Amino acid sequence: MASNPSPELLIVMAAGATSDQTEHVVARLHEAGVDARVSRGREATVIGAIGERELLATLPLEGYPGVDQVLPILKPYKLVSREVVPDPTVIEVDGRRIGDGFFGFIAGPCSVEYREQTLETARVVAAAGCTMFRGGAFKPRSSPYSFQGLGVAALELLEEAKAETGLPIVTELMDPRHVEDVLEHADVIQIGARNMQNFLLLAEVGRADKPVLIKRGLSSSVEELLMAAEYVAKEGNERVILCERGIRTFERATRFTLDLGAVAVLKQETHLPVIVDPSHAAGRRDLVLPLSRAAVAVGADGIIVETHPRPEEALSDGPQQIRLAEFPEFAQEIAALAALMGKQIG
Ligand code: PEP
Ligand code: MN
Repeated sequence: MASNPSPELLIVMAAGATSDQTEHVVARLHEAGVDARVSRGREATVIGAIGERELLATLPLEGYPGVDQVLPILKPYKLVSREVVPDPTVIEVDGRRIGDGFFGFIAGPCSVEYREQTLETARVVAAAGCTMFRGGAFKPRSSPYSFQGLGVAALELLEEAKAETGLPIVTELMDPRHVEDVLEHADVIQIGARNMQNFLLLAEVGRADKPVLIKRGLSSSVEELLMAAEYVAKEGNERVILCERGIRTFERATRFTLDLGAVAVLKQETHLPVIVDPSHAAGRRDLVLPLSRAAVAVGADGIIVETHPRPEEALSDGPQQIRLAEFPEFAQEIAALAALMGKQIG
């Protein structure tokens, strides 16, 4: 018979427990072949123990010195849950921070199209105070006849933009066959909405040593998004950023329905940073500012926004890209709102 699928336990150390006592518990867990994840929180140190029920049952966990309580982890997600890691995670990329009071402001074109478009956009985005530069090299398009991205040539242009502006690069990985190329040039690996449940791809980036930005699937629940993050964390990469980018509903007035309720729920359920993509949700540039305002107000840890020097000529997502000439004003408003919410632009 298969063993119980949720054998995970949370070991809460007493307020006065020493780090030796915590190490002792961890050592016993490892000896028994159980994974241990220690989180030294502001309130208490907790150890997440993840392994077979039979193995865990062999350990007298409650009797170890310094242990206050042993509780089952009730949620299906473990490593990404607030239960296991009570304090918010801050992800740092080249000195830019995101999470726990640091607001990540990511902007750039939908697709990298040509050198000047990319560099011009990167310069404006950097001067406007953004913390990272986005741009698609491999594009997931609904039509096989649409522009599919420049691939490796785009990655090289992104590298050039980084060399000039210093902004870390966020770009999408669509296929495990591109992992080497993308890892060579990207600072944050984006997993697109359409790949949120591509479990082999998630495991692949879970073994990478770069942060991962996971976008919520078009028809995925909050729990499914958290489970996608769990796939990455389980492989050892706990530097995951979650992104709400709108879901498919009956509503046609916007391209997707921006689910801000999900952002509020995610902030409670996970210690990982949660950001919002207002561009793909809106589908039109006049709604990007109001949706961004709402994202800041609901407590998002950042936004990722599309902007293009000449959106009418863009090879993808033209209608939703903010005109580059208007971007500095947009950025000013976001910075002011983030400050109002007590956040520092990372
Ligand atoms: C994108 O960021 O350009 C993109 C394709 O996003 P999504 O996967 O959310 O549709
Ligand atoms: Mn796009």
